[in-house]
Amino acid sequence: MLSIVRGGRQLTRFIPSLGAAAVQPTTYSSTTSAMSGEKFGIPERYLGSEKSVWVEYIQLALEHNPLNLGQGFPDFAPPEYVTKAIADIAQGDNVLLHQYTRGFGHPRLVNALAKLYSRLIGRQLNPLTEVIVTAGAYEALFATILGHTHPGDEVIVIEPFFDCYVPMVKAGQGVPRFIALKPKKTNGVISSADWVLDPDELASLFNAKTKAIILNTPHNPLGKVFSRSELEMIADLCKKWNVLCVADEVYEWLVYKPNEHIRIATLPGMWERTITIGSAGKTFSVTGWKMGWAYGPAGLIRNLQMVHQNCVYTCSTILQEAVAQGFELELERLGRPESYFTSLAEELLSKRDFMASFLSDVGMVPTIPEGGYFMVADWTALTSKVRLEEETDRNKDYRFTKWMTKNVKLQGIPPSAFYSPEHSHLGEDYVRYCFIKKDENLKKAAEILKKWKESS
Ligand code: PMP
Ligand code: GLN
Repeated sequence: MLSIVRGGRQLTRFIPSLGAAAVQPTTYSSTTSAMSGEKFGIPERYLGSEKSVWVEYIQLALEHNPLNLGQGFPDFAPPEYVTKAIADIAQGDNVLLHQYTRGFGHPRLVNALAKLYSRLIGRQLNPLTEVIVTAGAYEALFATILGHTHPGDEVIVIEPFFDCYVPMVKAGQGVPRFIALKPKKTNGVISSADWVLDPDELASLFNAKTKAIILNTPHNPLGKVFSRSELEMIADLCKKWNVLCVADEVYEWLVYKPNEHIRIATLPGMWERTITIGSAGKTFSVTGWKMGWAYGPAGLIRNLQMVHQNCVYTCSTILQEAVAQGFELELERLGRPESYFTSLAEELLSKRDFMASFLSDVGMVPTIPEGGYFMVADWTALTSKVRLEEETDRNKDYRFTKWMTKNVKLQGIPPSAFYSPEHSHLGEDYVRYCFIKKDENLKKAAEILKKWKESS
């Protein structure tokens, strides 16, 4: 009782002062400035990771209100069964679904995931030891990387890379080693399959200090779906050097025919050295739910459990229950035309082709993605139409995308954000656009570009 009264007194003291702090930032910042300096600086392991393209470009979109083809998320409703599941669960009789659930994954969800992936990889998964549920694929990546990296361990990162990989490796005091996918010279149309790794260069990165390689297929931002022979090349090196493969497969269902997603964990000798990561955000078009998972052998998943139990501990019960119900439904119709996983990829194919055609019409050169929902395009034929000198960033693609956001009101993402500083020039001629958008918005994007092209 006393503590409640004390708590109440504290609250009445605190709330007004917090309010005052909000309107009088000087009071607040004088406190923070007293706490600044070396002692309260950013820890060394995070230095160099301060800048985030997402923080910057989401703010830019808020300020300039462009048609947003930047950050990747659908602008249409997710399948009705997942939103209905949430509503039913929220109002249903099982009140315990509003409380904590099992830390390493809600039982119904880990069971559904184990069932699904057992079928897909042809091996019986143990839902309790070989699957873990995380706060988005981000946390699965974090738990995998932090759970396995010892200071000085080398981690091979394929450029362009989803930007959080490197800060995570550095947070684990690991050392990223980079290799870039480079476009082959082609006559005319370029596909994400034309972006390739040099086998000798890749082999030269492996050594006794190599702990892991991060493989993202289907790939963000290129849309590359690694072929069997490319995966075999990576797998052979992993086996030769006893290296862990971190397989970021969040876009596993978004693959355009005739391409096929091959899970590297299914290659001979790879199950025991692979952690595969997925995302409900991509799978069910609910990126804001931030629910992900990883699966792999128990001995490796244990390391993720250690990070997870001491950080997030347990994820939202309601959301896990809804995702579990979604998977249970999809498991019944896997591979059939009525499966959401099949129909979404089909729907996206025409959006992809429409985007490729309107970008080409204005003179950009798109790389046609085999998977995922992003398209990179070379914009340099339009250089004379943008005033890059009005922006101050070091990389041209940052200047291009910022100028376009402010002046043409169309937002894309600068791909140099997905390269190491030493290789960032490799991304500068490109822009990344997201095409998981309503047709009407893609049409608007086409019109915006056409008008701009014709305007001067
Ligand atoms: N990996 C890749 C390649 C991604 O594009 C994303 C998208 N955000 C993630 C991981 C993180 O997924 P989530 O939103 O589930 O955390
Ligand atoms: N994966 C999404 C993208 O690449 C979202 C990124 C994010 O929210 N950090 O756009």
